[in-house]
Amino acid sequence: MDKILLLKEIEKNIKVCEKCRLCKTAKNPVPGEGNPDSEVVFIGEAPGEVEDLTGRPFVGRAGRLLEVLLAKIGYKRTDVWIGNIIKHRPPQNRDPLPDEILSCQSYLTEQLKIMSPKLIVTLGRFAMSYFYGDGKISRDKGSLIVTAKFNVFPVYHPAAALRSPEMAKALEEDFLKIPGVLKNLKEGKIDVSKGTNWFDGSKSDDLPEGQQGLFN
Ligand code: URA
Repeated sequence: MDKILLLKEIEKNIKVCEKCRLCKTAKNPVPGEGNPDSEVVFIGEAPGEVEDLTGRPFVGRAGRLLEVLLAKIGYKRTDVWIGNIIKHRPPQNRDPLPDEILSCQSYLTEQLKIMSPKLIVTLGRFAMSYFYGDGKISRDKGSLIVTAKFNVFPVYHPAAALRSPEMAKALEEDFLKIPGVLKNLKEGKIDVSKGTNWFDGSKSDDLPEGQQGLFN
């Protein structure tokens, strides 16, 4: 089956999902959207108000900033795939709870297995923590983290950048690194310049203690 059909199957399951309490308060599920063949995908935390109303990821203020940043590295939003770790909006945009993240985990895992992107850009600390344990966004942002299954590139969340000019600057700087990181990955060259944040996680045992996230 092709990727689009496989992703549609997952979307059907997300639409009827009652694995956690969030389906009771959310208006619409937000499964994610975009180009399933993209070599890079962007993963946020959870839908906000506009996403909940429309069923689409990153279409509010944070989404507009994301689109500006994507344009700076030569992408339209339709060129890439954009999704979230949580598929239903938490009430009042509160942080997702650990059991909600766990309940939703299999959907993104399956989506990523189908798309098999070269690079996953995580937006904010919740998305980062989904892929490896013991992450620290202020330390890891803008570094390539190689886990057992994925190449992860954490950056600040666009919503945080809307609140802080320093974070906005850091977010833009990190976005501008993405084409180079992708090029290195595609050419089999790996940028180890960041040193300690950088792991060869080809085997989960390679990861230092504390770096064993959900997927390791
Ligand atoms: N913030 C997120 O993390 N995801 C969205 O889809 C919108 C805002």
